[in-house]
Amino acid sequence: MPIFDNHYSFGALLPLLASHKITVSEVVAQLLQRIQEQEDLNAFVNVYDQQIVADASLIDQKIKAQKAQELAGMVVGLKDLICYKDHPLQAGSKILTNYIAPFHATVTERLLAADALIIGHQNCDEFGMGSSSENAHFGTVLNPLDKTRVAGGSSGGSAAAVKAKMCHVSIGTDTGGSVRQPAAFCGLVGLKPSYGRISRNGLVAYASSFDTAGILAHTVEDCARVLGIIAGPDAFDDTAYSKPIPDYLDALNKSGRYKIAYLEETLSNDGLQSEIKEHTLSALELLKKEGHQVDNIHFSLLKYALPTYYILVNAEASTNLARFDGIRYGYRSSRATTLEEVYTKTRTEGFSKEVKKRIMLGAFVLSASQCETHYTKASKVRNLIKKAVQEILSNYDFIILPTTTATAFRINSFANNPLAMYWSDLYTVLASVAGLPAISLPNGVDQKNLPIGIQVIGNYFEEAKLLAFSRYFETITAS
Ligand code: GLN
Repeated sequence: MPIFDNHYSFGALLPLLASHKITVSEVVAQLLQRIQEQEDLNAFVNVYDQQIVADASLIDQKIKAQKAQELAGMVVGLKDLICYKDHPLQAGSKILTNYIAPFHATVTERLLAADALIIGHQNCDEFGMGSSSENAHFGTVLNPLDKTRVAGGSSGGSAAAVKAKMCHVSIGTDTGGSVRQPAAFCGLVGLKPSYGRISRNGLVAYASSFDTAGILAHTVEDCARVLGIIAGPDAFDDTAYSKPIPDYLDALNKSGRYKIAYLEETLSNDGLQSEIKEHTLSALELLKKEGHQVDNIHFSLLKYALPTYYILVNAEASTNLARFDGIRYGYRSSRATTLEEVYTKTRTEGFSKEVKKRIMLGAFVLSASQCETHYTKASKVRNLIKKAVQEILSNYDFIILPTTTATAFRINSFANNPLAMYWSDLYTVLASVAGLPAISLPNGVDQKNLPIGIQVIGNYFEEAKLLAFSRYFETITAS
């Protein structure tokens, strides 16, 4: 049996690398083989096999020479929204056909500087717009646990690849849940840090005041290890938080007696799958037994989080996606005969129906006659929600809620009702609207054996505390 079968988290692999029981080249060969064997999952849009084989032997030499950095031997996948210099980048869209990234995203640069290896770009919903990785130019991603079901979205390829042991961790993006929800659907840990904790330089923009890079991994420890490398101030992103970052790995050992709030409105929702409710309540009960204070509180603004989110992200998307015009990037319609047609035909042919719908909705809410009643109003509601959540977090360490309303759904479930798919984001958009750090952790399985996720929201830039609690939760729920 390949060694990697039992050592699929990087943390578990580290001692083997350190004691020279396995080389990075051997690990990479196993991962590439798995990718080949499981091509039907459609997790990758590009695998950089030749390059990673070459990179692996360089890292092996570094390890031998004792010159290796912290992530030496960690194999990472990037969502197809993250720049890797001189490699293709399409944001899951036809409109970026043949586009080659001219520079590294800050995230990529920091991973490489720490001796991590990039194995490929992973499939996703176009521009990160979706909750199932079905709105993907490269086709639907299948859930490795049940191939009739979605892997979640929009970072579905990233979740499927980690779960199927094709890489140790993946870097996704989370605008309204796209790291946490696929993590929940695939039984992984998915961390969305505070807005600004990780530089957005080199990430394809969807909604700039929400977009956050995030980490999908098997363990909280791997999340902490990667966050410590990619987070922190960056001269290329003014919205990146300027304070230095703490030692996240070291913080994992901290423990405490925590005050935890859970929101009545999240659990009394008729649309919530009963097993998810039961598992969330059991986890809260366990925390109480362990000596933590667990209180049920009301959060009447919950129902406004989703409309607020979709008004604001569409508005921001409509302006961000204006740059894809057939002149500067990627695809250009061959049927265009005038300049105006270059714009209109390129955009008509290059974007999917879902993306065009969002651009039009966004342009509508920003239009002179609608701006006040839609965009401005939603911005005000966003502030109200932020204040209300901050108020809760001034009294509690964490807010706990389900990650999703249901476990992984069957492919095509929402084909005729896209609005219903939007509602499935109900629980993840709250932390996004507020810009708070949130993590999805595995919390058992439903009767069909599909993973259930539980979400923990922490206070601004308190990722260290959030990760320490998450690691503790992992320990008390380990079977
Ligand atoms: N499903 C949400 C949306 O479509 C979230 C996407 C994301 O976080 N990128 O907007």
